[in-house]
Amino acid sequence: MFVITKPNTSSEQIATLQAMVEDLGLQTMIMQGSQKTVVGIIGDTKHVPEGAFLNLDFVECVKSVSKPYKLVSREFQKEDTIVKVRGIPIGGKAIQIIAGPCSVETPQQMQASAEAVIAAGALFMRGGAFKPRTSPYTFQGHGEKGLEYLVEAAKEYDLPVVTELMDVRDIDKFLKYEVDIIQIGTRNMQNFQLLKEVGRLKVPVILKRGMSATIKEWLMAAEYIAAGGNTNIILAERGIRTFESAYRNVLDVSAIPFLKRETHLPVIVDPSHAGGQSWMVSALSLAAIAAGADGLLIESHPNPDQAWSDGEQALTPTELKDLMNELRLVARVLGRDLGQRNVVPVSAYSLDKTTQPLAA
Ligand code: PEP
Ligand code: MN
Repeated sequence: MFVITKPNTSSEQIATLQAMVEDLGLQTMIMQGSQKTVVGIIGDTKHVPEGAFLNLDFVECVKSVSKPYKLVSREFQKEDTIVKVRGIPIGGKAIQIIAGPCSVETPQQMQASAEAVIAAGALFMRGGAFKPRTSPYTFQGHGEKGLEYLVEAAKEYDLPVVTELMDVRDIDKFLKYEVDIIQIGTRNMQNFQLLKEVGRLKVPVILKRGMSATIKEWLMAAEYIAAGGNTNIILAERGIRTFESAYRNVLDVSAIPFLKRETHLPVIVDPSHAGGQSWMVSALSLAAIAAGADGLLIESHPNPDQAWSDGEQALTPTELKDLMNELRLVARVLGRDLGQRNVVPVSAYSLDKTTQPLAA
């Protein structure tokens, strides 16, 4: 059971509420949001007198949620969560595209990557500075230097950045470089200590699905972050492991409508790590958008043949731009649109992949 307070409730009022709960022999968990405080009541709440809480003038409502994931469930919150990143909404009507290389390699590569992201019309840039690699003998990322290259290149174009955090000991570096969105990768989806720590931040989090995680496990992982007070969570489906080995992972398209029903959090898709081949990215992206995804996380590289990691799945700048044009058409058919800086009329685009916009 959750007791949700009105905005600007004081700490003394919260203490009053806590004392009332403890008098009933139950425990509380305080979740401090930016506006409201949510007081979770832990224990057997069958005989809790809800009315006594509702009588307190600082209490907005009392909610009981039957799902195991509580704060992130649709049952808890009917309206879609819209995560705002420097004023840009993720979730809601607009579909947001995040593009950029797997790894941050050099300042020149990041500069060219940022130019390609801007030229394609995407609003966010990705790039890994701390890389979770299967082999300890492959490039592990530049670490802090990588954050610097990423942020430097992005700053010139005012692009918010997404980058992966693997270790709680690096959080201060992410805060120092003002990373806009922290990515928790597939291998860390159940690193509960990491989830708890990002739950204490205000920075938005992209939580990727563990490669063999069920939806329930994934949403429970999101609940860890929300329980810390950070509800700026974006779920990213990036393909799961199955018996199929023809491609890197299997994009679980079914997860998209299922999650949209089960949770109020925005859902994005990473078609690059799903298919593992650049030629698959367009089809998987279109499928994701058609199924209701709120955005895409796409790997692109100024020169995929030279990429230090995941080059085979990276789009070239031209491919990225062409894909954006395709996605825009599909989004508009669905009554949505790609997030954009300047609105371009749909008539300016042709369905032909190779055709550039007819008018600026
Ligand atoms: C990545 O996005 O760079 C990455 C490593 O993805 P995943 O965690 O989905 O494998
Ligand atoms: Mn990658």
